[in-house]
Formats: sequence, C-alpha cells, structure tokens
Amino acid sequence: MAEITPMMRQYLEIKDKHLDKILFFRLGDFYEMFRDDAREASALLNLTLTHRQDEPMCGIPYHSAASYIRRLLEAGRSIAICEQVSTPGEGKGIVRREVVDILTPGSLVEDNYLGTSASNYTLAVHVGPSQGAVAVADLSTGEFQATAFSTVGWKDALARELQRFLPRELLVSAELVRDEPSFAALLVGFPQTVVTTLEPWRVEGQNGYRRLLEHFGVASLQAFSLHEESPEAVPAGALLDYWRRGNPGRSLGHLRHLTVFRPSDSLQLDADSARSLEITANARDGSKAFTLFEVLDRTCTAAGSRTLQSWLKFPLVETGPILWRQDRIESLVRDSTLLVRLRKLLSGILDLERLAARLALDKASPRDLVGLGTSLRRALELAAVLEQHPEGLLFLNDLTTSDREALEREAGSLARTLLADPAPQLGEGGLIQSGVSAELDELRNLRDNSQQVLESYLAEEQTVAGLPQLKLKHNRIIGYFFEISKAKLDNPPAHFQRRQSLLGTERYSTTRLRELEDRLQHAEERIFTLEKALFLDLRNGLKLQLPALGAVAALVAQVDVLASLAQVAQNGSWVRPLVESGSELLLEDARHPVVEASLPAAFVPNSVHFHPSDSLFLITGPNMAGKSTYLRQTALIVLLAQTGSFVPCSRAEVGLVDRIFCRVGASDHLAKGESTFLVEMQETARILRQATARSLVIMDEVGRGTGTRDGFSLAWAICEYLLETVRAKTLFATHFHELTALRHPALSNFSMAVEDDGREVVFLRKVVAGASDNSYGLHVARLAGVPGSVVDRATAILESLPPEQGLPGSQTARRVQLDLFAAEPQPDAVRDRLRELDPDNLTPLQALTFLAQLRETAFS
Ligand code: ADP
Repeated sequence: MAEITPMMRQYLEIKDKHLDKILFFRLGDFYEMFRDDAREASALLNLTLTHRQDEPMCGIPYHSAASYIRRLLEAGRSIAICEQVSTPGEGKGIVRREVVDILTPGSLVEDNYLGTSASNYTLAVHVGPSQGAVAVADLSTGEFQATAFSTVGWKDALARELQRFLPRELLVSAELVRDEPSFAALLVGFPQTVVTTLEPWRVEGQNGYRRLLEHFGVASLQAFSLHEESPEAVPAGALLDYWRRGNPGRSLGHLRHLTVFRPSDSLQLDADSARSLEITANARDGSKAFTLFEVLDRTCTAAGSRTLQSWLKFPLVETGPILWRQDRIESLVRDSTLLVRLRKLLSGILDLERLAARLALDKASPRDLVGLGTSLRRALELAAVLEQHPEGLLFLNDLTTSDREALEREAGSLARTLLADPAPQLGEGGLIQSGVSAELDELRNLRDNSQQVLESYLAEEQTVAGLPQLKLKHNRIIGYFFEISKAKLDNPPAHFQRRQSLLGTERYSTTRLRELEDRLQHAEERIFTLEKALFLDLRNGLKLQLPALGAVAALVAQVDVLASLAQVAQNGSWVRPLVESGSELLLEDARHPVVEASLPAAFVPNSVHFHPSDSLFLITGPNMAGKSTYLRQTALIVLLAQTGSFVPCSRAEVGLVDRIFCRVGASDHLAKGESTFLVEMQETARILRQATARSLVIMDEVGRGTGTRDGFSLAWAICEYLLETVRAKTLFATHFHELTALRHPALSNFSMAVEDDGREVVFLRKVVAGASDNSYGLHVARLAGVPGSVVDRATAILESLPPEQGLPGSQTARRVQLDLFAAEPQPDAVRDRLRELDPDNLTPLQALTFLAQLRETAFS
C-alpha cells in the first residue's frame, strides 16, 4: 500500500466529517471523488473510474459540475462541496480546503438543481412521550410551518402531513427509525422522500426552542404561540440546526416566520383521502397530470403556482376568508380588462421568493440581482394598479408604504449599478456599469486605453522635457521604458532613471511610468476585485430589505392565484358558490373539473342536494355508469368552494364542512404487506371514528374486498352506523343492490340512469332518484373486450341461477335493520354476546367485525 500523501490525509480528515455525503474535493479545475464515493459516483454518473496511488478516484470538471450534481441529487444522494480556500503558495504546506456548501435533496436553492418551480419541502418529525410534532420548511422559498399531534396517533398524523407536503427530505431521529419497525412501511407511498437520520439529541429536548429564539432574535416565542414545552419547537429547531450546519456562516434570514397550525384550522383530509381525491398529485405516478391543481393552475409566476398548491393543501373552514377570496375573484371575472392587465404584469415577474432565498443565503448571482431588479419594478407597478382600482382591490397586506419606497429605491439602484447582461460568475468582471465608481472607470480606462494613456504620457514628457525625439518602448525584460539616442540627450531630466545603456541609445524609466505600468498590469485583476466588492456591497444592502421583499413576493403570489382562479372561472363558466355555516349542500348541474377537462365528449352534469335533514345518499348503478365520478366531483367541488374558488356548477350552496373523507378503491397497500381488505377496513374505521355531522363522507364500493356475504353485511352495518351515529353527509356508492332495502328518514336512494332496450345498453351518466336493479356487469365485460363466448357463457350461468344467489334477500336484509333497532327482546345467543361486550375497549374495526358476527349469530 502506498504511503498516504498529505493531500490524501487532508481528504480523509474532511471526509470523516461527512461520511453520509459524497465529497466533491476541489483539485485545481476538477472536483475529485475518492474510494467509495468514487465507486458510487462513477456508477451513478457513468464516469470512468481511475486510480491514483492505488486509490479509486473519478473527477468532474468544475465548470460543468452542476449537471452532475443535479443527477446525484435526483438519485437521492447528498453532496458536500469542498473548496480550496487558500491560494497555492500562500503559507506553508498544501492548499487549505474546507467544505463550503452541503447540498441535500431538501436544501437546494439554485434553480438549476431544483429543476422545477414546485415547492421543495423538508419535513422534520419528533415523537415525544405524549406529544409529537412535525415542522416543514422550504429553504428555497422561506416557507416554514409546524404542527403538533398526540403521540397515540402519530403515524396517521405523519402520513397526513407527508401527503400534504410531499417532502423531498425527511429528517428523523435514527432511534425512531431503528425502534419503529413500521417506519419504512409509512414511507411506501412517498417514493420522492429521502430519509436523513439525525442523532437523537438533535430532535428532542429544548434545544429546538433555544434555536428558534436565536434564529428569530427574540426573547420569547409567544408571538408564534409557542412556549418552552411546545412540541412544535423541537422539529422546527432541528430543521434550522440541520440547515445551519449545511450552510456554514450563512444566515437563514428568509425564514422570517414560523406558522404554527392546528389540523382543525383548515378543512381536514387524511392521507388516504387526499391521495384518492388527486388534488395536487395523482395516485398513479404522483405527478400533477389529471389533478385538480392542473386544472386550476393558470398562474403566471412560480410563486403563484406554489401558493395555489398551498391553498389547496389548506382549504378554509370559516366564511370570512372565503368571502374575501371570492370577492376578489368576482371583481376580476367581471373586469376582464383588469384581469388581462394584471396577468400581463405578472408574467414578467421572476420567482421573487427564490431570489430572496438566494439573497439571504449569499447565493444570489449577478443575474439573479438583475432579475430581481426588473421583477421588483413590475411588482411595484402591479401594486400601483391594484391600489388605483376603484373597487379598492388592493390587498397589500404586510407591504407598507415604507416597504414600497425602500424597494423602489433598491430597484433603482440595481438598474443603475448592474450591467443588463452581467457575467454569470463573480470574480471575472463584467458586472458593474460605468459611472458607478470613479476608481473602476479609471481602471477600465487604463486597461482599455492603455496605449492611449501611455502615449499621452509620452507626449507630456516630450513637451515638458523638451525632447520631441523621446520614444516609448517595451520589452519583456525591463517592461516599458523611454528611449532616446545619446546624441539627442546631454542632460537627462532629474526624474529620469537610467535603466539600460546601449550603443548610441539610453533607456530610462520614471516613477510615474513604473506606476502606470504596474497599474496597467494589475488593472484587470483590480477591476475584478473592485467589481466583486461593489457587487457584494449592493447584495448586502439588499439583504436588509428581506422582509419587504417577502411581503412583495407574497402579494404577487396572492394576486397571481386569484387571477388564475378568475381565469379558470371565466373560461369554464364556473359560478360563485354561496358559502355559509349551515348544513345544506346544493350543487346544481355539477361537473367533475378534471374529468370534464380531459373528456373529448360533453360531460353530463349532475346535481346533488343534501337538505339539513338528509344524511346518506345511496347510489347504485352498474360499473362504469359514472358513480365514482359523481362522488368525487361532489367532494372536489366542496373543497374548491372552501378554497375560495368558483365552482363548476350552474348554482351552488355549500354549508361549510370540517373534514372530507374519501374511501375509494384499493391503492398501493400491497407493498406495505397489508391486504386490500384490511386497508379498506382501517380506512373505514377511521371514518366511523373521526367523521362528524359536519363532515362530508365519500364511500365507494365499501365491502368489495371480501366475500359477498361479509361485504354486504359490513356495507349494511356501516350505512346504519353512519345514519344513526355519525350523521355526516355521506355519498355511498355500491354495487350491492340489496342495500337499497335499507330504510331511514335521512337516507335517499339514487341510481345511474341506463338505457336498456334488451340488447344494447347505454350509460347516460345521469343520476336519478330511486334504486337501480341491474348491475350490467356482463355488458361492461363485453365493452372491455372479454371474448364474446365467455360473456355468452356467463349470461347462461346468470340465467340459471336462483335470484340473488348468495346474498340475504332484501326481505331478510330489511329484517336485520328492524331487528337491530327494534325494542323487542332479541334471541338469547345475541343477547349473550351483547352482554359480554365491553364497548369501551373496542376499536371500530372490532365493532364492525362484531356486528357482522352478531348478524351471523342472529340468523344462522
Ligand atoms: P363507476 O364508478 O360507476 O364505475 P366511473 O365514475 O368510474 O364509473 O365512470 C366511468 C367513466 O365514465 C369515466 O371514466 C368517465 O370517462 C365517464 N363519465 C363518468 N361520469 C361522466 C359524466 N357525468 N359525463 C360524461 N362522462 C362521464
């Protein structure tokens, strides 16, 4: 084994502190990787693995590092960038090197690493003995939030927040990952999330609270509704600590506020419901294709698009803020000229939030600042347009007059100082306009007009010394010099210093010539240094305006979302829903916003009307008739209404709901090792346990995942429980036609209209009152391309079966209901079982199972 060189020793020392990262070790114009890092990177990046003194290594040129870094980050790896921090030859020994930046998937701020303008969240979780919390932040925009939960339900709470934010990185204590075997299963539905484990002490105790105090520069966190014991402070502080360590020496000044929220502050959706409603990510590949967000996103700015997502993540539960948004959307829908004007101004505004983030982290490039300047001017123009609007549309929020004046000044100074198309990098000149610094102008003059400067000096000397024959020459040995023939010069001027004496000629220098030469030689270098210093002054000055920048960025984003929602409403003829605190739900001629947008043929509108006395609508109808679409559109429209948006209906009245539950189809749970039916029942249990009379419940084909008899019994019992106990507004779609025998004053039956002339079946996609009586399964099988002979055989089998084979007949079913709620004494076996029951120690799932068994016992 070769002896370790001093450089390799330095490498190993640094690497030792960053074992979980790929270390990019700067060597001249390359970043080199060694040993395991080299093996891994060469495989991931398809680079040639070489060896240096037996050490595996591979390298990438410094100038093209960005694309390699991006690929490693996409592969979920983190990178420590180690730079040379002293110049070769300075001091003794080898060049000093330090890690100057740590790039992890969740802590990126540069557009070329981030790829898209979507939010890039990091979520930190803490689970304490009785309470836990998550904190979530986007370092690239400064968004920072936290919420607490009780430890009993921490997995549901974590899943809910993971689904809400879809973080790129999850910070968690190594202990939790180790001690909680189901932790990996929790993450199955979140392939984009990279897990980073932290030493347990970093995500517990009161360090978090102290870090927050320090970060916000305050003596107490009362303003954030936090105290020393608040669980939210723990992961929030852990996040700050993590990023501090990754950005040595930099402030995180753009994380200006920590929003502490409670789930009940907004319309609540658990992880499964949010996933199956496909609000911001589709259930298939997690992309935004065919989502509600895709339909609504007509924003012109990146920050607007992110804010729209965040509105959808936190639908409102109070009428006041909903009306505020509706009023503004309505004004914009009515005033198309204003809408067009605002959208035009918006479309020239760059991502102010990310620009501010890079500014805070000292990562804003010269081009960033030029973009910031032009975007600021446009944003201020936008504010002025809103302010002048006769309807008082201005919603400047936190943007005060003094903020606006300060930003006006900064935009002016950016426009006056920086070149319109500056060099991409610092330290290579090409940044600052002329007229900004007299010294810079002089240096540039010197560089650009060096010949002229020298010649004018020569002319000066020729006149002053009375030596018109004096020449100015240059060679590599002595540099610039004056030359004159000996014959012409008897008595050299006193300030002439002889440099060389040749045959017939004398060579002289002067202090001024040497100075000029020195300045010329160093002009370029000094120009670079001075331009950089001027740029950094400008950047540091701008940093003082981070709060005002944050306020203007928020204003732009908000106007953009409102304009986008107005545009969508205008294009699709959506209406303003009447939102109120009552419990009515009326959606006339409602359409599914996503299906409608993607359907080549016309979408058939359907209405839904829950009077305050209605609770459960049972929707029967064959597969493919449009049941799921109807159910989901109802949920999505309620969600839209509570987001403040207009809705795709001809008329709408929405009594505010507290939660939406959506239980549909099987999803990806097989990967978690759970049976589809178990998951279906877990979700059902959650709904029965958590839904309130103010909730909206969507249940599609519950009971399908088990045997027909079990499934039917469960569906029946669940409907009864929903009607008797929960009393939420429920849309319950089922292919168990026998369920329509269920009777209750708060229940109504609907079905999907089908035209059937005995041979041909046409789905009309129309919801009509009353139950359906045929499943048309064979028809759907034929539509799906099942061979005709199979369908014919199935038809023959069906015809040979006794009616409703395998299920309790509807008469029996009705008796179940009557018996269970009747006052008469029950058969003894049933009574015995009931007597043994300890309702206090029963989970909803056990209750459901018990109920099914009870039924079996009663009728066996
Ligand atoms: P079900 O739940 O009854 O099996 P779906 O709701 O999945 O049926 O609808 C099946 C297909 O019918 C959808 O993919 C959609 O293309 C079409 N569809 C559903 N509802 C409508 C409608 N109201 N108007 C037009 N097409 C519809």
